[in-house]
Parts: sequence; C-alpha cells; structure tokens
Amino acid sequence: MLSIKELTDGLNAHCDKIGIDIVGFGDSIHFNKFNKENRPESYLKNAKSVIVIGFHLYDLILDAWSRDEMKKKSYHFADSILVDQCHQIKSFLAKKGFKSKIIPYIPGLYLKDAAALAGIGPIGKNNLLITKTFGSQVRLRALVTVAELAYGTPIYESEYCKNCNICVDSCPSGALEGGKYHRDLCYNYCQENLIKLSENTVIWCNKCIESCLVGKTSI
Ligand code: SF4
Ligand code: SF4
Repeated sequence: MLSIKELTDGLNAHCDKIGIDIVGFGDSIHFNKFNKENRPESYLKNAKSVIVIGFHLYDLILDAWSRDEMKKKSYHFADSILVDQCHQIKSFLAKKGFKSKIIPYIPGLYLKDAAALAGIGPIGKNNLLITKTFGSQVRLRALVTVAELAYGTPIYESEYCKNCNICVDSCPSGALEGGKYHRDLCYNYCQENLIKLSENTVIWCNKCIESCLVGKTSI
C-alpha cells in the first residue's frame, strides 16, 4: 500500500510526464461551505481529494470557443486538452486502486475556489485565479478521488493585488468596480463585443486576463 506521500509524488510525476502545466490537491473537507450540488461528495461517494489542473493559455487565442449551430453545442479548444489530461489522471489512479470522477462544468465545482483551496493561487481583483507562473492565463478542470493526497495550503487573499488596480482600470465594462465582480456587466459587454476568429469561432474580451502582470514581471 502506497503512503500518501508516495501516491502524491507519483501523481505529480505523472502530471509532469503528460504535460500538465499546473496541478494542485485540495482536501474535500474545505468544500463543505458550498452548495450541496457543488461538493465533491455529490460526484463521488467518499471523495477525499479534489485534483485541480490548469492549462496555460500561452496565447489567448487558445481560449477560443467554436459553436456548432446544428447541435447547439460549444467546443472549447483548451478544455478538450484538459479533459484528455483528466482521463489520463483517472487512469493513473485506477491502476493504483482508487476511484475518481471528472467533474463536469455544470453544476460542477467552483473551479477558481477549488484551485485557491488547493493552494495553487489566490483569486484576484479580476475575479480570476492568479498563478505565480502564468498569472491568470489559465483554464481549469478538476477531478475528485477517494484517494488521500498531500494537500496544498488554502489561499484566501491575494498578496499580488494589494497595491494594484490595473485589471479594474482596464475592464471596459466596469464589471470589476467596487471590489466585486458584476457578472451581468461583464457578460453583456462580452456578448456585444465578441472577437470573431472565423464564422463560428470566437474569443471573449480578455482584458482582465491580459492586463494582470503576475507571471509576466514582478509587481
Ligand atoms: S472579461 Fe472584459 S468585461 Fe469581463 S470582467 Fe474581464 S475585462 Fe471586464
Ligand atoms: S491586475 Fe493587479 S489587481 Fe488585478 S488581479 Fe492582477 S495583481 Fe490583482
């Protein structure tokens, strides 16, 4: 039987091998504050750990969505990579004798909160996860597992944002004003200002991602 450390080290090495940019592990106990449908237990009985992975959007074009009007479905390039990586983690854990489940987007877990609870980084004034290496240029996905892992320390506050207001000032819709994320302002602006890459492929306003300097230079 592997120790918690051995399993965590093995999983970290596997994630590295399959090219995962960011990974963190959170204790499912921290998720009890969320709605029942957004807790790990709702997806997998006896879930002990939440595994959060991130894909570095090294070019924000990677954050593009394609819409299939016939099927009324959207496809997201970066997400398809993340889902594939989740399957590889699931397979790794299965071989070690542990069940796991890939979390769908809806109702899903609160991915940014999950990442912060796993110690990956804080949520910034831009209402996004901030990672030390890639700033907010990441897309996230998560799995839950019955395996116990070595957890990161939850991060509740953003040290990066203390003397910075760049993203708030850069937001064209005012959606980040007043220390709160105004979803409607953001959503309406983005819908009216979609950047079309092709007939069915778009990217949203990403000013709040682009403007954050974390990971680009020291602030
Ligand atoms: S996506 Fe654009 S409109 Fe929405 S919060 Fe970010 S900068 Fe503001
Ligand atoms: S731009 Fe500044 S205030 Fe906004 S998230 Fe980044 S560090 Fe925080």
